[in-house]
Amino acid sequence: MSGRDSKSATMSIVRRHNIKAQKKFGQNFLTDDTVLEEIVSAAGVCGEDHIIEIGPGLGTLTKLLAEDAGHVTAIEIDRQMIPVLDEVLAEYDNTRVICADVLKTDLNEIVSAWPGENVKVVANLPYYITTPIVTGLLESGIKFKSITVMVQTEVAERMQTGPGSKDYGALSLAVQYYAKPEIVVNVPPECFFPMPGVGSSVIRLDLYDKPPVDVKDPAKMFGIIKASFMQRRKTLRNSLQNNPDTRIPGDVTEAALRDMGLDPMIRGEAMTLEQFAVFSDLVENRA
Ligand code: SAM
Repeated sequence: MSGRDSKSATMSIVRRHNIKAQKKFGQNFLTDDTVLEEIVSAAGVCGEDHIIEIGPGLGTLTKLLAEDAGHVTAIEIDRQMIPVLDEVLAEYDNTRVICADVLKTDLNEIVSAWPGENVKVVANLPYYITTPIVTGLLESGIKFKSITVMVQTEVAERMQTGPGSKDYGALSLAVQYYAKPEIVVNVPPECFFPMPGVGSSVIRLDLYDKPPVDVKDPAKMFGIIKASFMQRRKTLRNSLQNNPDTRIPGDVTEAALRDMGLDPMIRGEAMTLEQFAVFSDLVENRA
């Protein structure tokens, strides 16, 4: 038991600062102490860590992170949160707040502030931009040790699932190329203020030093993946032939699939990451 009471602390800040939760910024503040502690514990936050928090909001999670981390950089888009964060975080001199849109922020510059520390992302994400944030982090080239984030349950499932599930798609493959995903805990709407209309889950992505598959041109493979899920009920052959970004002739796709021992009429949704990697290299060789 922590003895905290994040729910009353949140309600008191909301009243004192006359905060109106802004839907357009995906503001659902986490008020459940157990879940807050579970997030910090899942991320394994310690003194050697530089934590990047996206969307600190009222600073409830930020405070917990500041207590355990070496440094915290919190990036918040909403100006009305800044005076609140200044107040809530006043006693933590290892924490800085940047008022900016995370999608337009140079994270390399932020990371270079404390080069000796492990960089981890920990956040209760704004759900309206979960995919661009997560793919942007994964593709940034920054050596994050882990990314522990609260997302919509449906999105967490998409990140973790494999072929055969309706949730399997380009996001699953992008995440699984860079990281090992693990859903840590499911979180009901009652744990937030205001309550979101969807269920939430905390997911941790442990980033690989080296991707689990070898592929000559990852950008090309991701182009193929994107095209093959654009119309997921079509065969891979037709998707890649018709998509203006790939335009791979049908006979080239069929020949590559035959070489792999796969049905030439297979759909992309039935293929694993490893099969996409092999296919991408085979097609590259025939180009
Ligand atoms: N961390 C707080 C918590 O757990 O209670 C707030 C989480 S709330 C779900 C998402 C936060 O992200 C809000 O504070 C919102 O203003 C902020 N946000 C939304 N879009 C953002 C963006 N593009 N860049 C940075 N922060 C953003």
